[in-house]
Amino acid sequence: MPRHNLSVLLARVHELAAVSRSQLTKETGLNRSTVGALVAELVDLGLVVETEPDPTRLVGRPSAVIVPSKQVVAIAVNPELDEVEVALVALGGVVLARSRRPTGSTPTGSTPTVQAAVALAVQQIHDLLSAPGAVYRVAGVGLAVPGLVRADDGVVALAPDLDWRDAPIAALIGEATGLTSLAANDATLGAIAEHVRGAGRGHDDVIYVNGGASGIGGGIIVGGTVLGGVSGFAGELGHTLVNNGGVLCHCGSTGCLETEVRRDTLLEALKLDTAQAKRVIESQRGYLARALANTVNLFNPKLIVLGGFLATLLETDPARLKELVSASALRGPRDDVQLSSAELGGDTLMIGAAELVFAKLIADPAGTALASNTTLASNTELASNTPLASNTALAESKV
Ligand SMILES: [Zn+2]
Repeated sequence: MPRHNLSVLLARVHELAAVSRSQLTKETGLNRSTVGALVAELVDLGLVVETEPDPTRLVGRPSAVIVPSKQVVAIAVNPELDEVEVALVALGGVVLARSRRPTGSTPTGSTPTVQAAVALAVQQIHDLLSAPGAVYRVAGVGLAVPGLVRADDGVVALAPDLDWRDAPIAALIGEATGLTSLAANDATLGAIAEHVRGAGRGHDDVIYVNGGASGIGGGIIVGGTVLGGVSGFAGELGHTLVNNGGVLCHCGSTGCLETEVRRDTLLEALKLDTAQAKRVIESQRGYLARALANTVNLFNPKLIVLGGFLATLLETDPARLKELVSASALRGPRDDVQLSSAELGGDTLMIGAAELVFAKLIADPAGTALASNTTLASNTELASNTPLASNTALAESKV
């Protein structure tokens, strides 16, 4: 039986999260007995679970429902300036548990080294995997990094705000955990997540703009495909010019979107009800609108999804942001575009990072090794990783 069909089926179950055999038959064009055999193989591999048909269903022939196994997980990691976030994401795109720990970075400019971020992430991975009673089979680690990440080897070529250059973050996590580890730009992964499971579902031309602690990034999906560029660096919307008289950016240029629209300034202004604060918000909205208008003219998207703190610039006055974008975009593309906040909210980057890992599993369901969490948690290297003295304040929560 062609291996490819096993991938096609697993991809559908992963995307839809629950699907009947008859629906799979319809969607794939494969015959019923082939679908039955493939589902049986996926069940044997422990990747999907087939539930009994609903006996209360009165109309039509009851069909078994196939769901992704909740035990098959990817570990998602988002190293940021202020904290490292780690989540366990189950096949089917469900965040099962998460952990956040502060990096100890200071406003005066100390940033976590890549080694410190990796050490924090490894501790969090260890803690999540060794939760009492947890039974997981781990497919790998996916990293959503706020910077330029080389597509072929997961090396962070440049993360200006973290001050990382040529940082082999995927290799470091891989060595410490023994797991397959993959990295990509955070906003690109956010774009994938929102495209598959969030606000961009059903649209092929979607732009996702992420506002994080360390700046602003963009992910561009054109005709259903992620726009990567030669090395995977495309989409750096945060470093497009929005203010001729602007301030110097970490990247060496001036007046970049991410220097003019800052999370700290915005969150501070949102707390106050003064004319000055309103001016700050309006000015940030204006700079964001200018950058969005440029992308509207360049890519003619159906939808722009705003994630992280940027969502607040839309949500606090949707009509005003739309008006500002329309004022500087061309008639035509501006009439096609809609603005939305990230539907997956705080899960967007975690789900996107997990997609990196699941894409690899789906490409070869029978040939991808999954690691048991108990084995991983007792793996000496992972378990003996010494806690970083000042950074262990724990803020963990089960979702
Ligand atoms: Zn810049």
